[in-house]
Amino acid sequence: MIPSQNPETPLESWLLWQNELQPFWFDASFAGEIESETAKLTAKQNIFELPESLFPHDGSVQKVSEKAAEPADESLPPLERLRLKTLRCSACRLAAKRTKTVFGEGNPDADIMFVGEGPGEDEDLSGRPFVGKAGQLLTKIIENGMKIPREQVYIANIVKCRPPANRDPMPDEAQCCIGFLKEQIKIVKPKILILLGKVAMKYLLGLEGAITKARESTYEYEGIKVFVTYHPSALLRNESYKRPVWEDIKKAMKYLGMM
Ligand code: URA
Repeated sequence: MIPSQNPETPLESWLLWQNELQPFWFDASFAGEIESETAKLTAKQNIFELPESLFPHDGSVQKVSEKAAEPADESLPPLERLRLKTLRCSACRLAAKRTKTVFGEGNPDADIMFVGEGPGEDEDLSGRPFVGKAGQLLTKIIENGMKIPREQVYIANIVKCRPPANRDPMPDEAQCCIGFLKEQIKIVKPKILILLGKVAMKYLLGLEGAITKARESTYEYEGIKVFVTYHPSALLRNESYKRPVWEDIKKAMKYLGMM
């Protein structure tokens, strides 16, 4: 996109300003810079102000098919307002391929919030988090292990759109999306967060490394106690994780005075 000499949009002004600073006009790497810049803005909840023309320039991000939500309706509950924003989001390449955005679900006043990595196929088709095989196992952990209905907790992911072939979200995709999760946490205000697997730990706590080691400690995020355990899909692949997961869940329940 080449801006006209009389900028009409914030993007055009920005491009002209960049052009004064750069010895080039507009090329592919510059397009990448713009994309990451706009992604950051989007993650800061500026979705409704951003011109649509920002996104489709290199074909990696396309307009999403879901019906655009109306700009923030103040009468809606904050979580619902946020959910509508995620439906419009096209900040990263994952949006182009999604069937449904998977915002998250559960009790908006939950004491316990689980955080996974991102939707798989079943979640992408249904628009709900943790409903496939790994999700059914998580539901069993909650309902049979913790003895509370799934609806009593809140469940969300690092990214809201399915990464292709269930690969891990890429850092730029996580960066685009993490603002939504942080906002969900701010609204729900859970007493504890239970992070499921390495991806959740990496992008919410900035910690890399093995869960085996990380689960020996507890953490804090914005004053909220954080527990880390194996992702249920790791549990499906390796039965020996059952005991440590149950220990982690009991640790969390004891912290909450549930046992
Ligand atoms: N795995 C995740 O991390 N999240 C889901 O929602 C489903 C599977």
